[in-house]
Amino acid sequence: MKVCKFGGSSVSDANQIRKVCAIILADPTRQIVVVSAPGKRSKEDTKVTDMLMHCAEARLAEGDWESLLAPVVARYTEICRDLELDPAVATSITNALHDAVAGSTEHVGRYQDAVKAAGEDNSARLIAGALRKAGCSARYLNPGEAGLLVTDEYGRARLLPESIEKLADLAYIKDIVVFPGFFGYTPGGEIVTFSRGGSDITGAILAAATNAMLYENFTDVDAVYVADPRVIHNPLAVRELTYREMRELSYAGFGVLHDEAIIPAVRAGIPICIKNTNAPDAPGTMIVPEHQVIDSRVVGIAASGGFCTVFISKYLMNREIGFGRRLLQIFEEEGVSYEHTPSGIDNISIIIDEASFPAATEEVVCRRIKEELEPDNISVEHGMALIMIVGEGMRYAVGVASGATRALAEAGVNVEMLNQGSSEISMMFGVSNEDALPALKALYKEFFETPANLMD
Ligand code: ASP
Repeated sequence: MKVCKFGGSSVSDANQIRKVCAIILADPTRQIVVVSAPGKRSKEDTKVTDMLMHCAEARLAEGDWESLLAPVVARYTEICRDLELDPAVATSITNALHDAVAGSTEHVGRYQDAVKAAGEDNSARLIAGALRKAGCSARYLNPGEAGLLVTDEYGRARLLPESIEKLADLAYIKDIVVFPGFFGYTPGGEIVTFSRGGSDITGAILAAATNAMLYENFTDVDAVYVADPRVIHNPLAVRELTYREMRELSYAGFGVLHDEAIIPAVRAGIPICIKNTNAPDAPGTMIVPEHQVIDSRVVGIAASGGFCTVFISKYLMNREIGFGRRLLQIFEEEGVSYEHTPSGIDNISIIIDEASFPAATEEVVCRRIKEELEPDNISVEHGMALIMIVGEGMRYAVGVASGATRALAEAGVNVEMLNQGSSEISMMFGVSNEDALPALKALYKEFFETPANLMD
């Protein structure tokens, strides 16, 4: 059996939900359907989850939440009407939305999560109704009833491992199960949501728990592309990625699936397929534990800005036992997580996400390094972008690095840092934020437009 997850744009209106029903009807192995709350219908539209969050904010501020809830109710009612569902469905959704926003505000986090979860919960009730109308025996299943237990970390719940055993039973339900994404329950019965975009997490958990043969993640793009389509015109689609390739690419900015969201499926070795609700026959992109055939190629190029580098040099650093530990301990004690640590004989660079390194922290960290480690030099450089080229086949290929550096040089890009450290499947270049775009374009041309480097 397969677990299918449909994102917000796939359930944003009646027309999209009809496509979802057709997809489910087309394949009897699609037995578990995880749904998001209705998302944007156009670029200017607002997601239901955001609308609900505004309602909760207004209620907490003792503002006019009812007039903010009215358009949310209208969205569900309109979908029910367009799908010609029994009017009782719209009435019960209206009441449920109202009850959630009017609920107890005693604990702010708990209240906010209960309101946010109402988006997915009512979406699942609605879609179960739509599937029944389309001729399926489908039923809504509440995550609490199903046993999806999570920690009480509001807005960033984590799965409690004891859930898995109970969730495994979902595989034996005869009806098609429509399961709301994005939230679970604490053992005490409180609703807690995952981080934003968390319906992907629910899908991955259910695929892992039921040992599904495939986790299909339906979205609004045909595939994962080898480079960001907002930057590269019409990039090639990736047919197959390994989990590791996906992890490296999403680290550096690939947005289709969040790497952390798919961890449960990855741990269970369940293949994942990214597919398009609007073009379900397109092959999509498979994300698999291992490639069956590895050829010597780069599968994707990603770029992500907003990093900074702390350069430290000290003569004979390589012989000073404990230097690295003491250095990293300073970052640890100041609450800064480091990204990479490329090093030389007498120098080391600590690369940090600028968002987690405010000026005041930078000042303390640099002062402590000077006092405690007595380096010859220390300097901090801001505004760096990391460009990654990724591919399992790279480790067997000759000339990837030279092709990449030549392409960057020809584009006039100055490489500030090059790291092919411990990952055999990626190569990382640090360039200035301004050089990120020309670098990405040059690398795309080198690896995806140069016939000698192309796959068959
Ligand atoms: N509706 C939630 C969000 O917008 C979760 C999801 O769609 O995955 O973040």
